[in-house]
Amino acid sequence: MSTADVDQLDDGPLGRLALSRSGVDRATPRRGDTDWLARAWADPRTRVLVVRDAQALVATRDGRLELVFVPPADAPDGTRFLLGVGADDVAYFGVSAAAEDSAARPGEPVGGRAEPSARSDSADAKPMALRQVGALLSDRDAGLMTHAVALANWHDSHTHCPQCGTPTVPAPAGHLTTCPADGSEHFPRLDPAVIMLVIDPDDRLMLARNALWPAGRMSVVAGFVEPGESAEHAVAREVYEETAIVVGQVRYLGSQPWPMPRSLMLGFQATAKGGQRIAVDEEEIGEARWFTRAELRAAIDAGELGIAPTSSIARRLIEYWYGEELPDGLASWTARGR
Ligand SMILES: [Zn+2]
Repeated sequence: MSTADVDQLDDGPLGRLALSRSGVDRATPRRGDTDWLARAWADPRTRVLVVRDAQALVATRDGRLELVFVPPADAPDGTRFLLGVGADDVAYFGVSAAAEDSAARPGEPVGGRAEPSARSDSADAKPMALRQVGALLSDRDAGLMTHAVALANWHDSHTHCPQCGTPTVPAPAGHLTTCPADGSEHFPRLDPAVIMLVIDPDDRLMLARNALWPAGRMSVVAGFVEPGESAEHAVAREVYEETAIVVGQVRYLGSQPWPMPRSLMLGFQATAKGGQRIAVDEEEIGEARWFTRAELRAAIDAGELGIAPTSSIARRLIEYWYGEELPDGLASWTARGR
């Protein structure tokens, strides 16, 4: 699919989510073209995004955050993968580098020096996580970083053949690995997860607090899809398990990748049947309750409630139900919001 095709996608009810953006062609036909890959890596115009410990180097330029790339010659050792090709025909690669590399010191461009165009203000460059910067980057950079972090996480955690235990070898474009012992091929893994607005017949929204979260932090219910289960079934099961609420209609709204480490978040709206009482699974959920729009806004404005960060699909789902953007409220979600 070309970049133009992505741009022409109908984003659906949720609009385009922060980590669902893109600005380069993924150039999938190039992944098997080893000659092209070698030429692209030899081209000094090629830009490499270095990922360490799920973070990439980000700098401020003209008041906005952008990724800091290095030319291939300055890239550190590590698993390499093709991210795509820009409209200007510049190729983008990622490299998953070892976290202990001395070049990972905060404040220093990864690999020793940044590309010339970024050098002027790369002094403030520092490694940042997707959760922190995903919503603040441009379409191109958000897409590149999401793709790179997802592939780096896969390579870092899937190093051996699941059939025989032999260390696998990444293909030149980094989108598959092969076992040298038995020839089996292995592709990036994703964990599909459902996350849902649960609405009652009075159009109130259910928010729940994970038992591990501090008071005042609440969000929509979410959970992983189990093997042999549809996404819709997972929605109904998770809502019932966590809150004892039976839902009827389940409607798909949109998705975004959440490579922390490898989720694909599938957003839904589920309608609860009337006349039910919430009864939380106390091991997993600290509390759950229904909010009217006025109650939600009042709790946020009073500093009693904090909702998920703007990069998350949880935030977009809540704002979709609410009808407009909301302030962050109480707790900033530095931990593991989704
Ligand atoms: Zn094997």
